[in-house]
Amino acid sequence: MFQKVLIANRGEIALRILRACKELGIQTVAVHSTADANAMHVRPADESVCIGPPSAKDSYLNIPAIMAACEITGADAVHPGYGFLSENARFAKILTEHNVTFIGPSAHHIEIMGDKITAKKTAVELGIPVVPGSAGAVETDEEAIKTAKEIGYPVLIKATAGGGGRGMKVAKTEKDVLEARSTARTEAKAAFGNDSVYMEKYLGKPRHIEVQVLGDGRGNAVHLGVRDCSLQRRHQKVWEEAGGPTILPEERDKIGEICAAAMRKLSYSGAGTIEFLYENGEFYFIRNEHAPAGGASGH
Ligand code: ADP
Repeated sequence: MFQKVLIANRGEIALRILRACKELGIQTVAVHSTADANAMHVRPADESVCIGPPSAKDSYLNIPAIMAACEITGADAVHPGYGFLSENARFAKILTEHNVTFIGPSAHHIEIMGDKITAKKTAVELGIPVVPGSAGAVETDEEAIKTAKEIGYPVLIKATAGGGGRGMKVAKTEKDVLEARSTARTEAKAAFGNDSVYMEKYLGKPRHIEVQVLGDGRGNAVHLGVRDCSLQRRHQKVWEEAGGPTILPEERDKIGEICAAAMRKLSYSGAGTIEFLYENGEFYFIRNEHAPAGGASGH
């Protein structure tokens, strides 16, 4: 058990972690920017450290300042919450090198699921079914046309660094492909600073089903059921319904077990979300998150 946990986050997620630590009798350290000195997440903590000016990149994303806060307070673990540094492999690695536990997946696991193409490749290796599509990034117009022909229309062009439904364009015919690729790239560049795109078969009317997994980092993992996140606006979830009422219990158990088995194979640690499209009795992996519901990508 940890003695002292530093919470590298703010707002309601920091408060939830704080409450869990209190229930477990673990000391807490809050970190905050100068603007958040009197924030709600700071007051109930046993100790607090200012880690920089208001801008997140100078405070909640400031790895040296957070490392210094660990050093000063003697925290033996860091909980990153979601967002900010929660999916930052470098942060996880630096903490581990300094004998501070990163409460989340290992740096290696963050890396092998880093962007959406890498995550899809990892899913294939783990035996998780994926949406048919390009093997990796689609680098040229010729490759886009060739890949679309192989997959079959309609196709979806998606941003490798994607999130929040941005950088996603449907192409119904060969004529659409070039324009869709170009628009998706421009959107992706603006949103993520990365214009790499890949392609998938566009499913007509899929449900969006998510599986919650928990691993202990020692080869044990379970799934905690599924959520239906099909109610969306512009490919962005609006509503999540726990229990997955739209799929049969045996389907839920089957996909849950596939995910739990994959996490056992990886010796995954922490809470993760594995996201699927579901159509005509089949599940297709699209992405994952190293966080529980409502996590990092602003869903
Ligand atoms: P983001 O990472 O931007 O949130 P996702 O890959 O999670 O994008 O997809 C978000 C939503 O976009 C899905 O829930 C679904 O509605 C739609 N979508 C994504 N991929 C496909 C696909 N291959 N076919 C049809 N719809 C898709």
